[in-house]
Amino acid sequence: MSAETPPGGGRATRTETEVCVVGGGPGGRALARALTRLGRDVVLLEKRDPAKSAGPSFRGESVSPDGVRLLDGLGVLGRVREAAHRVDRLEIQDAGRKVLDVRFAGFPYAYRHPVELAQPALLSALAEPVRGPGAGRCAVLEPATAVGLLRKDGAVTGVRAGTPEGPVEIRAALTVGADGRYSAVRRMAGLDAHARRTPLERDVIWLKLPFPEAWDRRAYRVRISRGSHGLFLPSTDGTVRVGLNIPKGGLRKLRSGGAGPGVLRERLAKLAPEAAEAAREGLRTWSDTALLDIFTTEVARWWVPGLVLIGDAAHTLSPILGQGVNHALADAVALAPLVAEALGSGGAPTPAGVRAPAGVLEAFQRGRKGDVARSRALQLRQERMFTLAAPAAAVLRRTVYRAVNSSPALQRRVLAPAYFPGRRPLPRTEAAAGGPREAEPV
Ligand SMILES: Cc1cc2nc3c(=O)[nH]c(=O)nc-3n(C[C@H](O)[C@H](O)[C@H](O)COP(=O)(O)OP(=O)(O)OC[C@H]3O[C@@H](n4cnc5c(N)ncnc54)[C@H](O)[C@@H]3O)c2cc1C
Repeated sequence: MSAETPPGGGRATRTETEVCVVGGGPGGRALARALTRLGRDVVLLEKRDPAKSAGPSFRGESVSPDGVRLLDGLGVLGRVREAAHRVDRLEIQDAGRKVLDVRFAGFPYAYRHPVELAQPALLSALAEPVRGPGAGRCAVLEPATAVGLLRKDGAVTGVRAGTPEGPVEIRAALTVGADGRYSAVRRMAGLDAHARRTPLERDVIWLKLPFPEAWDRRAYRVRISRGSHGLFLPSTDGTVRVGLNIPKGGLRKLRSGGAGPGVLRERLAKLAPEAAEAAREGLRTWSDTALLDIFTTEVARWWVPGLVLIGDAAHTLSPILGQGVNHALADAVALAPLVAEALGSGGAPTPAGVRAPAGVLEAFQRGRKGDVARSRALQLRQERMFTLAAPAAAVLRRTVYRAVNSSPALQRRVLAPAYFPGRRPLPRTEAAAGGPREAEPV
């Protein structure tokens, strides 16, 4: 890197690369990894200071079967196997009765189980350097916060970032906004004008509790009671991760009314009496909870010349069925080969200033938006089902779940868009041996 004086004053360090990725979440790290495996050079900026924070603790722990397939393709599944917790079934109880019990082993695909995987473990596996002949270089700047875009002739040509050592300018053939649901890159590129944010009717309070003794640790549990519901997910640290829905803005109301977390304990005990004792033990103050403001963001256009968005920055999803991490990984895996090819053959360095052609970015969005839309539609359908409060509607919901429960074909149809979009059939030998056995690497 060289230190020069940028227009506007102040000394900035300047550097050039092929691809500058803003954001070191699952999408950004996966893209940096996929690109360097294809021989391209990357600079990745992450605003979080690794010395001050171990990484997001509640976020992104559920990885869908398709996410597991993508991690295998990225060559990191072996590294996270120890840290991953396989989930065998999904159980829904409505009004105290079990209405759905899906066994993942029964699906005829090579990758059929979701896993729980703490995001710090996932991120550090994705961040492992790629070595070997033909590998590109990846420089990670953290903490480094993107604060502006460099532009030339109407196209984005890089990023300005702030670091503890001073400002940095990175010129790149392609800039990627992988900076999450509140993406600054999206705003700076003018793509917020194409974004439609839809708040859902509820927020979710996340908390972790000691794992209730009566439960097996390999199940996702959903408990519904009229219009209220809770998600109970086994966490890799031995606790149960609980997502409790509350009306939009409800937490502020609860807290400003002076209520203690006892109100949540009561609600939890109603939904899951087996977790009542754990709630008494594990939920003592509001600081034991984290709030997720639930909204989906549809961005009509994911790119401008020289820049593209991936992951939550391009499409924020709701937490149902653990879709956010999966789609961030899928974006990275889809984008990398298109960009690597567009930047030139044979691993030759691309002079900065030669931009990835717009057709490539357009093709990337075209290729990915269908899968994202199918996941979003499934999530919104689920969301509506969960919130049906009127007695007749709740009866209808239970009837639908029971119908799905009794039909493996229907289970495949309902879950396939979210869980198995890149489904790969079981290896022939296994299918010939009479159906699914454990073939997955987790
Ligand atoms: C409480 C909670 C629970 C969730 N649970 C699940 C789950 O179980 N399963 C699931 O699949 N998904 C879950 N999600 C969603 C999931 O975390 C996201 O969909 C996923 O992390 C998206 O990955 P990403 O790389 O696109 O963005 P992010 O993971 O948001 O990463 C963006 C990164 O960019 C960095 N950044 C932001 N701005 C800048 C900037 N200006 N300069 C430099 N860096 C910047 C951020 O620090 C961050 O590291 C959850 C989300 C929350 C909030």
